[in-house]
Amino acid sequence: MLEAIKAAADKNLRLYPDPEAASLCSAIANYYGLASEQVFVGNGSDEVLAFAFQAFFSPGKTIVFPDITYTFYPVYCQFYDIPYREIPLTEYFNLPVQEFCGDYAGVVLANPNAPTGKSVPVCKIRTVLEGNPNCVVLVDEAYVDFGGDSAVSLVDSYKNLLVVKTMSKSRSLAGLRVGYAMGDADLIAGLNCVKNSFNSYTVDRLALVGAEASLRDEAYYRAMLAKVSLVRNHTASRLKSMGFCVMESSANFIFISHKRAPARSLYQDLRDRGILVRYFNRPKIDNYLRVTIGTEEEMDTFCKTIQEVLEVNYHEV
Ligand SMILES: *Cc1c(COP(=O)(O)O)cnc(C)c1O
Repeated sequence: MLEAIKAAADKNLRLYPDPEAASLCSAIANYYGLASEQVFVGNGSDEVLAFAFQAFFSPGKTIVFPDITYTFYPVYCQFYDIPYREIPLTEYFNLPVQEFCGDYAGVVLANPNAPTGKSVPVCKIRTVLEGNPNCVVLVDEAYVDFGGDSAVSLVDSYKNLLVVKTMSKSRSLAGLRVGYAMGDADLIAGLNCVKNSFNSYTVDRLALVGAEASLRDEAYYRAMLAKVSLVRNHTASRLKSMGFCVMESSANFIFISHKRAPARSLYQDLRDRGILVRYFNRPKIDNYLRVTIGTEEEMDTFCKTIQEVLEVNYHEV
């Protein structure tokens, strides 16, 4: 992948990139068994999401997403003046699937969800698609490769499904800024319309080349995914033995809470020792920490440090 980028860093950089990203679209289509017309490429999935909100949702028509989910969804709604309703997740952060079947004007689901890491099987996504036949159901699969169930298999059967993915997480390429959407050719045409209405040149030459090379390196990618899952599961069991409640995760992070040590102070205690985890000062999740899985060594340091904090500050053995 790095070799491919280095090789592409030549005098051709004086030329604009392909505005249609045709070669990368076709590589992605090949990878998932789709047609190129079913793929859209953007500068990270955040840009793809922004285009999708603008293309498929409209002012005056209420869309829905869970109350606990990726925090950019309400931001896009406010930016594009799209009314939204947050449907509460159940007590254990599960998706109340039936409540999402209301013939809404739009549905957005992160699967696996952030920051809980919980995922739903594709049959539940199918239920939501059938419960909303007249709007776009956007499934954000930023973390799906770490163990979720992808809805890409439904793209050919449901014209209202848009699956959004990113190379930032499972392909460790956040700096390259490549995200993509897969859906019916009409939806993809809609995204292209929005994009071309203000800047048709999106992804740059080096990112196009790097992303395509990453898709070719399946062995490395699989090995890295396996490693992350292994370290995640190992970290989860160590934390459980320290008295943590660890939510079942299909992502590259875990969502944890401790019965005696409040998340807010644990966050500060870890920070004082040079470890940064995510604390959300929000109702329902303010006693949880989201811990991203790093290398084996990093997670070992994390576990040892949190164990020490529990012993010193909370007299846990
Ligand atoms: C990280 C993330 C994104 C954005 O990723 P990009 O780096 O912009 O591709 C989108 N959705 C979710 C749920 C994410 O966690």
